[in-house]
Amino acid sequence: MIHNVIAMSLLIRNGLLITPRRVLRADVKIVNGVITEMGVGLSTSGVDEVIDASGMLVLPGVIDEHVHMREPGLEYKDDFTHGTRAALKGGVTTVIEHPNTLPPVEDPGKLASKARPLESKAYVDYALLGVLHDGNIHLFEDIVAAGAVGFKIFMGPTTGNIPPPSDSSLYEALSKSGRTGVTIAFHAEDHSLVTYFTEKVKAGGGMDPWLHIEARPPITEEYSIVKIATIAKQTHGRVLIVHISSIEALEAVRKARSEGVEIYGETCPHYLVLDKVDYQKHGSLIKVNPPIRGGIHRERLLEAVGNGLIDTLGSDHAPHTPEEKKRDIWSAASGIPGVQTLLPIMLDLALRNVFPLTRVPALLSENPAKLWGLWPRKGSIDIGFDGDLVVVDPGGETVVTEEWLEYKYKLSPYIGWRLKGRIRYAILRGMVIYRDGVITDKPVGKWIRPVKL
Ligand SMILES: [Zn+2]
Repeated sequence: MIHNVIAMSLLIRNGLLITPRRVLRADVKIVNGVITEMGVGLSTSGVDEVIDASGMLVLPGVIDEHVHMREPGLEYKDDFTHGTRAALKGGVTTVIEHPNTLPPVEDPGKLASKARPLESKAYVDYALLGVLHDGNIHLFEDIVAAGAVGFKIFMGPTTGNIPPPSDSSLYEALSKSGRTGVTIAFHAEDHSLVTYFTEKVKAGGGMDPWLHIEARPPITEEYSIVKIATIAKQTHGRVLIVHISSIEALEAVRKARSEGVEIYGETCPHYLVLDKVDYQKHGSLIKVNPPIRGGIHRERLLEAVGNGLIDTLGSDHAPHTPEEKKRDIWSAASGIPGVQTLLPIMLDLALRNVFPLTRVPALLSENPAKLWGLWPRKGSIDIGFDGDLVVVDPGGETVVTEEWLEYKYKLSPYIGWRLKGRIRYAILRGMVIYRDGVITDKPVGKWIRPVKL
């Protein structure tokens, strides 16, 4: 345990700063939680603590924009304490918590009653999304006023069984998004097509885990994205398509963007590093929605991460119990935990030159901060921003083991993986909350509301 984490001032010296546009050697000084000075050879006099980052990479703290920590209501799967400890060990200093908890975050009161109790449990900062469905579009502005950084709409069946919106509700929600500039994240799988294909494949009698791919083919994603984009084009809504898993979905986003729709794309590490053959080894463990398709889809997604067609990476951290995951492919729960391995996997890919290192802070910090109203407070190493940083040893290694993982249940397909790069420090608002394997003894995370510009 680390005691006395609250240093009034902290200087990180001689590190190589990785930003979306450049790589530079500079010191960073954080005073009272905020970055106050950057430059070469900053004075150490009067500084409470100095971290020597020689030979290290310094990145902005990661914002994992897509987590389901399961609290309140689903703590038997996992909880906010385990989830945010896992986050900080993985270099994530802010999480954006999705709204399909129990009760779902569908009105201002439920937002506040979810957000406040989490503050005593949060090891990292957190922001909350509200959910939109047919019954609550009229509360859009009130939920924002209560502190939501944005919304989620589920177009297809998912954990929590929130029904998809009617087309008119979708139009109304995207009109409000257009007027306010508030982002809506879409789980874009068409409900009726998913149901149709799933029933058809199940009726064939097969039980092979990879049949999950056939039960939710790319057209279910593409069709849903085209519908959302068509309405967003008319209403100027601000759209993020989360967990993109296929070429068809990528192409639908690219096309909508070329027509002037404000549409962004997220993918997740599991679509980049797992493949169809992994169903043989892991079975239902890697059942997620939309499915891990592998092959050419995986190749194109990796390209899209490198070339900017994909804007953000989220973990879609979605823990379940071993009993819920060990069932056959049709009855197993969908989702895997991933908040702790998000940055380690992305660093590994970048350090093996799959895409440039500068894409990591763009995808994991700057872009999510801008999408979710956290800019210019979080998401960049710059004067005036929160002192949220991660210090990484690029020559080190991260070995994923059950002991290393902080999840309640260690159900990760990455156990045994050796990844390039090792996180040495995680710093939240100038506080060293993680230091060489040791987590702070205090949950110092705060509820973050949108920055008013
Ligand atoms: Zn999700």
